[in-house]
Amino acid sequence: MTVRAITLVLGVSLLCDSAALAAEPNVTAHALAPVAESASFPVATDVRLGGDDKQTRFVVHLSQKIDLAAFTLADPYRVVIDLPQVTFKLPPQAGEHGRGLVKAFRYGLIMQGGSRIVLDTKGPVRVDKAFALGPAGDQPARLVLDLSATDRESFLRNITMQDRTLRTKTGKTVSVPEAVGDARPLIVVDPGHGGIDSGTKSGSGQDEKDVVLAFGLMLRDKLEKAGKYRVAMTRSDDTFVPLDERVRFARAHKASLFISIHADSIPRSEGQAEGASVYTLSAHASDAEAARLAEVENKSDVIAGVDLSAEPNDVANILIDLAQRETKTFSLQFARDLVGEFKSTTRLHLHPLKSAGFIVLKAPDVPSVLVELGYMSTKDDLVHLMSPEWRARTADSLVHAVDEFFAPRMAGAAAGAN
Ligand SMILES: [Zn+2]
Repeated sequence: MTVRAITLVLGVSLLCDSAALAAEPNVTAHALAPVAESASFPVATDVRLGGDDKQTRFVVHLSQKIDLAAFTLADPYRVVIDLPQVTFKLPPQAGEHGRGLVKAFRYGLIMQGGSRIVLDTKGPVRVDKAFALGPAGDQPARLVLDLSATDRESFLRNITMQDRTLRTKTGKTVSVPEAVGDARPLIVVDPGHGGIDSGTKSGSGQDEKDVVLAFGLMLRDKLEKAGKYRVAMTRSDDTFVPLDERVRFARAHKASLFISIHADSIPRSEGQAEGASVYTLSAHASDAEAARLAEVENKSDVIAGVDLSAEPNDVANILIDLAQRETKTFSLQFARDLVGEFKSTTRLHLHPLKSAGFIVLKAPDVPSVLVELGYMSTKDDLVHLMSPEWRARTADSLVHAVDEFFAPRMAGAAAGAN
């Protein structure tokens, strides 16, 4: 996809206002040594946040001037800045702590050719200005966003005036070539998160999105090598894919099985947990931990700044789909096969088979499970997750479980063909 020229929305000022910049509030971000430009994409090198609870200015330093589009989203209150693809080389802790009206922010790839910054704000805000500046004197190119506090009513009124087409362009649409005459079942491997949504993080800084992608790629290779299945991935690189898109992808290609790969973590205050778990869809969570996890995993689209107001995506929707009993039975059967296989090869959670209202598992016609490989917050689990040997052993178990799941049907198909 080519970089689309992004237009500014909502009467945002395009003027290069040097007077406004001179009045730039005190900054909190620490200075960063100049970063060499390695890629062909513009590089974001530093970020500054200044101001107070009434007015806040957000500034990003860039290797060159780029276009931007800013819009707001409600529940939770967010400001989204869409950019052409940018390489982020910001200080390591950038975004973890905010200032003024901004609680925190995150950034990353939202689709091929497009990057995004999402600011979580403390309350309803108005985007007063959003503009780009070219380099001037010893100042780098910058993008500048001025926010001021507003009330909820005005905030919501502004949202309805925003250009809807702009804020629905999110994530990639994935396609698999049609397999003409290939009757092998299609298995969709779904590494969680990606791009701007990093998932959970280990204490030593590893991102869930990277761990599950590495595992997913290995699983794909092993399944393909078995020769009995077609395999497709919802993502095979560090790109964000919305939850609904993952489900739509599996359904559109008439997948026979959907395996979502994740890694969990729990706050230290909530004690210790370890081992792998397998989740299926249910209207009511099987226990409090399953409920917590589904809530965390379902936040992916919120984290990425996806506009969910157009398509309500709550658990009520999932309930309707639960009418598909046969799919539910198959999902549970595969989950049990998988837990059985894991028993002999990897460490299992104390209660390894659980269920909750995961959006990504809601396809009514595709048996679907979500595998939590382990806890990134638990030291021994993290050692496993980072180990190529452990990954290979665990992926082998998954392949065995897939074989077990499809064996009766493949035997039936072979008998029918004779
Ligand atoms: Zn996850």
